[in-house]
Amino acid sequence: METIIGKEELLDKAGEIIRNGGLVAFPTETVYGLGADAFNEDAVKSIFIAKGRPQDNPLIVHIADVNDVERVAVDVPEVAYELFDAFSPGPLTIVLKKRPDLPLTTTGGLQTVGVRIPMHEMARELIKRANCPIAAPSANSSGRISPTEASFVYDDMNGKIPLILDGGSSDVGIESTVLTLCTETPTVLRPGAVTIEMLSKYLEKVVDHKGKVVVAEAPGMKYKHYAPVCPCVSAGSPESARNEYDNQDNAVIIGRDSFISRCGNRNVVSLGESPEECMSAIFGALRRAEKKYSYIIVESFNGIRGYFAIDNRLKKSTGGITI
Ligand code: AMP
Ligand code: MG
Repeated sequence: METIIGKEELLDKAGEIIRNGGLVAFPTETVYGLGADAFNEDAVKSIFIAKGRPQDNPLIVHIADVNDVERVAVDVPEVAYELFDAFSPGPLTIVLKKRPDLPLTTTGGLQTVGVRIPMHEMARELIKRANCPIAAPSANSSGRISPTEASFVYDDMNGKIPLILDGGSSDVGIESTVLTLCTETPTVLRPGAVTIEMLSKYLEKVVDHKGKVVVAEAPGMKYKHYAPVCPCVSAGSPESARNEYDNQDNAVIIGRDSFISRCGNRNVVSLGESPEECMSAIFGALRRAEKKYSYIIVESFNGIRGYFAIDNRLKKSTGGITI
C-alpha cells in the first residue's frame, strides 16, 4: 500500500477513508493519532494490527464537540461536563462508562471509554468530515516513541496505512492526561499537560497516578461563583417551581419561554428558548432579579442536551440545590 502525506487538501479524502473503514494518521496537539471509525470493529482491529499493539490496550475515542459525549458514553456525571468545559478542547482524556453499542474492541475489552476533544483544528475537522467518533492511539509502532511530526509517523507506518495528514509538529508533545471518573475516587491514570492541581479545582478528591490522594485546597470553591445575593434554587419542573414560589415572599421564576409559560400568573423572567438565547440572557436576568426580588427560582437545565454550559453555571449559582 502506498502511503500519501498531505495537508488540508486531503481532509475530504481522509474523512472518506475513515467512513469506509480505513485508517488515517492525523495530528493532534498532544501527539499524532492513528484513527478509525470507533464503531467499526474491523477498522479498529486494523489499528491494532498496524501498530502491533496488544488487543487489551484500550484506544481513546476522539470527538469534535462536547455535545457528542453521549454518542460514546452513558451515565455521564455532571463533573465530566465541568471538566470538559474547563479543559476541552485540549489534552485531557476522561474515562466514562461506555455506551453498550460501542465495540469492546475499541475499549480493549473494558466497559469504559476514554473520551477526548482534541484542540488541533485538523483533528476536529477530520472528525467532522468522517462524521463519527474516531478511535485513535498514538500513531507509532507499539513500543516505539510517540510521533510528534508527520515524518515520524511515516517512518513507522509507511506502507501500512493509506494516508497521513500533516498538521505540523504537535504543540504539547506528550500524550493526554487520562482521568477516570469510573473509580470511587477520580483517578489520574496517566499524567499529562493537564495537571492534578488543575483537576483538583473541580474535584473534591482525586488520586494521582502513583496512588496518592490529593484533596482540593478549598473544597466547594467551585460552588461560590455566579451566586446571586438572595437565595437561588433550581426547579426541575414548572410544578415544583410554582409550589416553591407560593411558599416564598417576593419570588421570581426564571426560565425558557416553554417553562415560564406554565407558571401561571406569577413573576417570571424569560431567557428566550434556544441555548444561545439562554446563554446570553442568564447573567443579566440573575443580576436584575436579585435587585428586585428576594428569592430566585430558575429552571433546571440538568441533562438537557445543548444546555450544558448554562447548566454548569447555574449549578454554581444555586450551589447545586434543586427543588
Ligand atoms: P495511547 O495514547 O496510544 O497510549 O493509548 C491510549 C491510552 O489511553 C491507553 O494506553 C490507556 O492508558 C488510556 N485509556 C484509553 N481508554 C481507557 C479506558 N477505557 N480506561 C483506562 N485507560 C484508558
Ligand atoms: Mg501510545
